[in-house]
Amino acid sequence: MAWTTCCPGGEATRGLCRTVCDIRLSLRGRDGQLSRLTYLFYVLFSLPSPVVKTACFSTHFASVKVVTPPVYLDNHATTKPDPRVVAAMWPYFNEIYGNAASTSHRFGWDAADAVDRAREQVAALIHADPKEIVFTSGATESNNLAIKGSLEHVKKRGNHIVSAVSEHKAVIDPLKRLAREGWDVTFVPCDEFGQVSVDEVQRALTDRTVLISIMAANNEVGTINPFGAIGKLAHERGILFHTDATQAVGKLPIDVRADGIDLLSLSAHKLYGPKGVGALYVRRRDPQVRLAPLFDGGGHERGFRSGTIAVPLVVGMGEACRIAAEEMESDNLRILALRERLHAGLNSLEGLKLNGHPAERLAGNLNLSFSRVDGEALMMSMREVAVSSGSACSSSNPEPSHVLRAMGLDEDMARASLRFGLGRFTTEEEIDYAVESVVANVDRLRRLAVLG
Ligand code: PLP
Repeated sequence: MAWTTCCPGGEATRGLCRTVCDIRLSLRGRDGQLSRLTYLFYVLFSLPSPVVKTACFSTHFASVKVVTPPVYLDNHATTKPDPRVVAAMWPYFNEIYGNAASTSHRFGWDAADAVDRAREQVAALIHADPKEIVFTSGATESNNLAIKGSLEHVKKRGNHIVSAVSEHKAVIDPLKRLAREGWDVTFVPCDEFGQVSVDEVQRALTDRTVLISIMAANNEVGTINPFGAIGKLAHERGILFHTDATQAVGKLPIDVRADGIDLLSLSAHKLYGPKGVGALYVRRRDPQVRLAPLFDGGGHERGFRSGTIAVPLVVGMGEACRIAAEEMESDNLRILALRERLHAGLNSLEGLKLNGHPAERLAGNLNLSFSRVDGEALMMSMREVAVSSGSACSSSNPEPSHVLRAMGLDEDMARASLRFGLGRFTTEEEIDYAVESVVANVDRLRRLAVLG
């Protein structure tokens, strides 16, 4: 930490702070942590006068934040639920436990009111009408419902679907199943930054195309696709446009109307909400999207998604969306500064390659390849920093990331990658801790590789 950034005392105490900060740096322990006790000891016994002691104590000791490993930098996998979300959900696990579908008593009405409020909060975040929000169990279900459900009603017009090689498995796998069942599916390529261009999508369209499914932002490299322009193109051609916006909602401004989106998938646990709940936006006019449900039952969610609504989770999702709408901008500024700090800290390592678009990228994403290092080995060697590796796109799949490969990385560089995902709760101290840990471990693994 530089003395200029950690001094809360302003110009008046900067001179003093500089000395103290130098000492704070040298007091960092073997694992990069600063011991509060050592620092207190230093302030009490080594500084010259009581005045200096007091100044040092008040400007520094209060600001010393100890990092408690492990440090969480895997916010694309999931995010920590915001304490405000947990607080909002709590009553719905306890006193307000009614079934939102029970129309005959107060318990049901209270639950239904809470679901209505959450629906409004989710809709507001993406500028939709609350009636256009269907609650699901998460983005995997939303993607399946959007893709399989919408085709039922457009199949008489054609059998061609356009998607991209860089999509999440929750889009690719349903599409592969449809291809096995006779649908014609084109996966357009992405460029070296992981971005899908409007031109590529346009080139792939035929008279038989009925659906385009392109993600808003990529979950591995954070690259943002031109989804507004793709939506416009789809509408000009009378084709339905679905976007998997799981990584983008709450991180980027989205306006389903202005962006020409007909179907949009989102998931609460990617925006500081609970796991196990998501939503699908289904456009109701210009055009009205018709959907066949994936399963039949009690006809909940206007028949699109039968099954008792998970009221506490839905309330949590609503609160997460409310907070995101208010804080997205300030979150992004702070997270971006932290990401730059992380990138700058790691830049001392040679053989570093940024994966993803240099500018059109989610603020919290930093995906790097460390040449001559196995990402999996690096990840395992620093268990105190939680990141994810591009060595395998899922723990059950030993293949290197299909996204990095599609961007043109060779197998070694794809296997040499780590994805850092920063979020609302990431701190400067954690970033500094991660930098030290990554640098030390990359150096060690490279030295071992030379020896071996
Ligand atoms: N789509 C994208 C882009 C994702 O990143 C994820 C989760 O990693 C999913 C879909 C699946 O989301 P869920 O866990 O809510 O099913």
